[in-house]
Amino acid sequence: MDNIIQITYFVAAVLFIMGLKRMSSPVTARGGIIWAGAGMLVATAISFFWPGMENYLLITVAMLIGGIAAWWSGKRVAMTDMPQMIALYNGMGGGAAAAIAAVELLRGGHDLTIQTLAVLGALIGSISFSGSMIAFAKLQGLMKKSVYFPGQQLFNLAVFAAAVGLGVLITLSELPVSNQILLFFLLALAFGILMTLPIGGADMPVVISLFNALTGLAVAFEGFVLANAAMIIAGTVVGSAGTLLTQLMAKAMNRSLGNVLFSSFGKDSGEAGEVTGSMKPIDATDAAIMMAYADKVIIIPGYGMAVAQAQHKIRELSELLGERGVDVKFAIHPVAGRMPGHMNVLLAEADVPYDKLYDLDEINTDFPQTEVALVIGANDVVNPAARTNPESPIYGMPILNADQARNTIVIKRGQGKGFSGVENALFFLDNTRMLYGDGQKMASELIQAVKQL
Ligand code: NDP
Repeated sequence: MDNIIQITYFVAAVLFIMGLKRMSSPVTARGGIIWAGAGMLVATAISFFWPGMENYLLITVAMLIGGIAAWWSGKRVAMTDMPQMIALYNGMGGGAAAAIAAVELLRGGHDLTIQTLAVLGALIGSISFSGSMIAFAKLQGLMKKSVYFPGQQLFNLAVFAAAVGLGVLITLSELPVSNQILLFFLLALAFGILMTLPIGGADMPVVISLFNALTGLAVAFEGFVLANAAMIIAGTVVGSAGTLLTQLMAKAMNRSLGNVLFSSFGKDSGEAGEVTGSMKPIDATDAAIMMAYADKVIIIPGYGMAVAQAQHKIRELSELLGERGVDVKFAIHPVAGRMPGHMNVLLAEADVPYDKLYDLDEINTDFPQTEVALVIGANDVVNPAARTNPESPIYGMPILNADQARNTIVIKRGQGKGFSGVENALFFLDNTRMLYGDGQKMASELIQAVKQL
């Protein structure tokens, strides 16, 4: 039986990796999810045949509860709430790894290597669990985006050091000491909360992705403890994919990983975002005239386009302009929206050709030669304060240089700020006009207006 289990785990691992590979392109991504899901199903099903397995009823009931809750919430969640969902599920993964570690540590009797791996998995999994819950609460708007207190860094370091110290003691002790183990878990959980409290502003993507990587690592460590190949492989895949994503996100936010880990990055704005002047409105007819008679238009989608589900209308508008000989491109910021690749997914769903989508590096030099930059529901990713105001919490984040276009039209509903809570100087510039309204409604009005020209 053992051979069959190991071969099945190998098949599951192949499915995970093939699934991940397919997720790298929007064309095959859906299929990739199904492949990886099938891998998970195979790995879970064969685990029932482990020698010495018991408590089948308990396991089945737990799986049913978890499965139904996940299916129900997965079906219901809005695309724009995806980061919260990822934070929550990711935290559960870390928590599960920590729970396995707790059982093994309380059982005791392991050799030094296994005991070390169990402690490491427990530490990382607990941090990921509690940190992800705080990330969830912040993204869901249940708590303030960033919380500070005097001496925070030192205090956090002390808590972490105490957790690590206790971890070493537990690793070296011959017999399990439940009080020490309990305190160790409390400290690790507290550190997860403490390290996430000061993080706010526009830097949440990095932290979510970091916790994702940590959860993978914790699962892999616990896989070694249980001698479970599927856990080791799945954990390693998640850990390395998460680490790569963290690095990409950090690069997109212009943060080093060290900065991500050890400083209170992405502080909320305070007064740093003060901007003076007034926003100048425009109506759809005038905006349509500006775009229809332009040579070049760059469309910049953001979170608001996702909220308004305006991607289909925007595609239609871009086609209409294209038919009139306007060169229309889409500029995609790596952290636009609320999850990595959010805009790519939406525009792919609306059948916008991939060759019309340009990354930040590819398109930023085009803005000065562009008649109209049309910003739809984007805010932080076009905030020039990131380039010009060292006091701004988003200072240093590369942005799409919409302010350098000859004219900018911004579709948004009102005076709402972006995710970082910072005012946007772009909206107050002389060559910026505000087209107020819901993204989908305004895109429809623009389509009608262009058609009548
Ligand atoms: P922002 O969140 O900065 O701004 C969105 C804008 O859309 C708001 O100013 C809002 O203004 C407008 N809006 C909201 N609803 C509508 C609607 N129905 N119609 C028209 N406009 C609407 O978006 P960006 O995409 O520019 O930036 C993303 C931010 O999210 C960054 O700060 C990023 O760091 C962060 N983030 C990104 C993640 C990722 O992985 N991509 C994950 C988590 C956070 P108004 O209310 O006036 O309409």
